Amino acid sequence: MKQYNRKEFLMKSIVLSTTLSLVMGESVLFGKEKKKENQSFPLPEGLTQVAENDPTAQALGFHHNANDTDYTLFPDRKLPNAKNQICQHCSQFTKLNEGWGKCNILTAGVVSNLGWCSAWSKKS
Ligand code: SF4
Repeated sequence: MKQYNRKEFLMKSIVLSTTLSLVMGESVLFGKEKKKENQSFPLPEGLTQVAENDPTAQALGFHHNANDTDYTLFPDRKLPNAKNQICQHCSQFTKLNEGWGKCNILTAGVVSNLGWCSAWSKKS
């Protein structure tokens, strides 16, 4: 078995702790991103959310969390001016509570106020 001297031990410890903190930091970031989802807000009574695998929802690239958008299909979603393009700012959206609303296009349930689809248009 290889013997480590003090310098090697310290260097390996620094590398290991840096790697761990980067990995943990990334998890924290993803965790924060996930908290942006509004799934914690209760659905309005008696209503269900639009299924993301609903044929119309899929055709429009809809997701309840706009961050889940397929950027290969909708590269414009990465542009800085697309940041606020979410359901709650869409002309088709009617707010029902702090997390959910009705969409005039996806009518099979309610949509998250943080969602997005390719039919988004700015609320006037
Ligand atoms: S049309 Fe507007 S409100 Fe409806 S899902 Fe698309 S972005 Fe959301």
